[in-house]
Amino acid sequence: MRELNRRSLIAGLLVGGSAFAAGQQVLSYGKWPKSKRVAIIGGGPAGVAAALALRQADTSARILLIERDPATLKNTSGAQQRFQRPNLSGVFNKLKAADIEIALDEIAAIDWQRQSARGMSGRDFAFDYVVVAPGTTAQDEGIAGLDSIARHHWPAAWGSPREAKRLTAQLAAMSDGTHVVLRLPSGDVSHPAGLPQRAVEIAKFLARKKPTSKLTVLDATEGTRAADAFASAIAATDLGQRVEWVGRDRPVEVREINAHTGRLETSHGLIQADVVNFVTAQEAGAIAQASGLADRSGWCPCGSDMRSLINPGAIVVGDANRLAQRTVDGAVRSGVEATRTLLRA
Ligand SMILES: Cc1cc2nc3c(=O)[nH]c(=O)nc-3n(C[C@H](O)[C@H](O)[C@H](O)COP(=O)(O)OP(=O)(O)OC[C@H]3O[C@@H](n4cnc5c(N)ncnc54)[C@H](O)[C@@H]3O)c2cc1C
Repeated sequence: MRELNRRSLIAGLLVGGSAFAAGQQVLSYGKWPKSKRVAIIGGGPAGVAAALALRQADTSARILLIERDPATLKNTSGAQQRFQRPNLSGVFNKLKAADIEIALDEIAAIDWQRQSARGMSGRDFAFDYVVVAPGTTAQDEGIAGLDSIARHHWPAAWGSPREAKRLTAQLAAMSDGTHVVLRLPSGDVSHPAGLPQRAVEIAKFLARKKPTSKLTVLDATEGTRAADAFASAIAATDLGQRVEWVGRDRPVEVREINAHTGRLETSHGLIQADVVNFVTAQEAGAIAQASGLADRSGWCPCGSDMRSLINPGAIVVGDANRLAQRTVDGAVRSGVEATRTLLRA
């Protein structure tokens, strides 16, 4: 029996070679019941890894991957764009080649008794087992003025390609000599290491394109890790001259905002901004909340086998899982681990 080869699977997902296509037997267990229906909700790295690993382990299971955003699975390739998450190329073709069914739909509810997931289209997807892999969504932080219009004007650009493009365009269009504010949230987020990186990215952009502009970072993260990572990333440069890092000693609380006037009322005083990258706090994707898999933290408590501690009938993988690392590598690993759990079921 061959040991699970995580690296090859990750490499296969990310660069286009496929351990599955190569016929490698990555997982091998004997007792999986024939023709079980497995629904996987979410086609990010965790959901895709779970689907491909399960197919490798069992050729007879009926695997359905449900993804709401066709762009996630489309056969694209190319470098990672500024402010965006890594691009997984060629995933759609790999899933098709592995005989994994794909449904383009957004799951709005899960009926646990009937073992069925209801799509926004009105379709019901029956399952014997379900893997929930919805990633993250913005958490309502109760900040006065931070409504959907404000979030449009002040994009988080944290996982949404549309918002990443909007932020890029806003930065490109602003006059030199203006004030950019980057807000870093408290709590867990997808890719925590990306928070200080975002500050570095914006500071570098300003240095190159808008040299008399200034960046203020409003840091609500706990501890000084983000501030320290930023400081060490720019240590050998002069980028620090145009950056003010607020909240190193005490996290900044944003209390009220006005996206039309550019005003932010914070625990560190009033701030006036021209362009704002407002990264919101996050929690497990909406379907995890709606289907009762998330606890008060907003994340899904699970055992190390990815099984939900709230509802053992569900397996939660990727960023939504409370224990997640919230990296691509971590998401893929959890997807593979989910397969082990399914095969033991
Ligand atoms: C800006 C940014 C930069 C990052 N950079 C890096 C990096 O450089 N390196 C790294 O390792 N990690 C990085 N990450 C983190 C990495 O992208 C995530 O950890 C990883 O994508 C998590 O995978 P996932 O499958 O759990 O969730 P996601 O990738 O979020 O995928 C979830 C999928 O589920 C779908 N979905 C959600 N709800 C439903 C529903 N109800 N019905 C149907 N479909 C649904 C969504 O459309 C989405 O496609 C970054 C993240 C961000 C936000």
